[in-house]
Amino acid sequence: MKAAVAYKHKAPLRIEERPTPEPGPGQILIRVKAAGICHSDLHIIDGDWEDVTLPRVPGHEVAGYVEAAGPQVAHLKVGDRVGMPWNYSACGHCDACIEGEEGLCPDHESTGVTVDGGYAEYLLAPADYATPIPVTIPYEEAAPLFCAGLTVYRGLKAASPKPGERVVIHGVGGLGHLAIQFARLAGTHVIALTRSAEKAKAALEIGAHEALIIDDPVSTLRELGGADIILSSVISQSEVGRLFPALADRGRFVLLGAAPGTITLDPFDLIPKRTSLIGSAVGNRKELREVLALAAQGRIRARVEMYPLEQVNEALDRVRQGNVRFRAVLTP
Ligand SMILES: [Zn+2]
Ligand SMILES: [Zn+2]
Repeated sequence: MKAAVAYKHKAPLRIEERPTPEPGPGQILIRVKAAGICHSDLHIIDGDWEDVTLPRVPGHEVAGYVEAAGPQVAHLKVGDRVGMPWNYSACGHCDACIEGEEGLCPDHESTGVTVDGGYAEYLLAPADYATPIPVTIPYEEAAPLFCAGLTVYRGLKAASPKPGERVVIHGVGGLGHLAIQFARLAGTHVIALTRSAEKAKAALEIGAHEALIIDDPVSTLRELGGADIILSSVISQSEVGRLFPALADRGRFVLLGAAPGTITLDPFDLIPKRTSLIGSAVGNRKELREVLALAAQGRIRARVEMYPLEQVNEALDRVRQGNVRFRAVLTP
């Protein structure tokens, strides 16, 4: 099989021929039809996260079908449409796993991070952690839901949005364009925040009630009464400290972009206003099913640009430059 492999930090991925894996007990072999490119993949490739070692096949937004099933796989059969998210596997019996927080399991593995991922023609996966994809969702539109969609869905849920609340979506990219749609479904007033006029226009088309293109959004948001929720997928940590004072009393700032760096906050923006800063990462298998169900009903939709596996490095560069509308997806 063909796979795109990261060997060296900040270097282009190499397309190479590898033996197609055989599924063992409890495993399936997924024929990958679409693999989304997440900003986390760049952190892995560029060496921003110290504990991730290379070589590695990245990719944790994987959609395809079951090519082969190993022994002891009863609930999936050849041909079933399935995908793999960030959570590749976990022990299944610790407190975190039982509570649906397998990402916090001490034995947790991450697709395309601690094990090889979806930038390849085939992916070996534990059948219990593969999630079925409804037939009405094209593979390329399903893939981004496995990280981008799930991450913003859980992140928004973590902030408990109430109808009518002002929700600021900071960054209109792979995560942000889906966050706008979920915030809209939650009955909130959705304000997109971006630096580009083109993205602001797109945000309005996707469903934002307002789109702000300003260098100093804090005073503008304060004039509006402040933000009840800010959902930030922007990867610059200095932006967090800059934007935090735009929260209304009891506002919630949800941080989803994990870049290196330190966040500086004024305690007077936290304590007297009873605001909170919430960290959130992906979500569990149940939430992923909920996201996929919403997509199957046509209530949310990922906008994608498609690239053959051979163009992985061009696609990664476009993601680096922030030029993708809105998710780049490889079609191995
Ligand atoms: Zn991701
Ligand atoms: Zn566990």
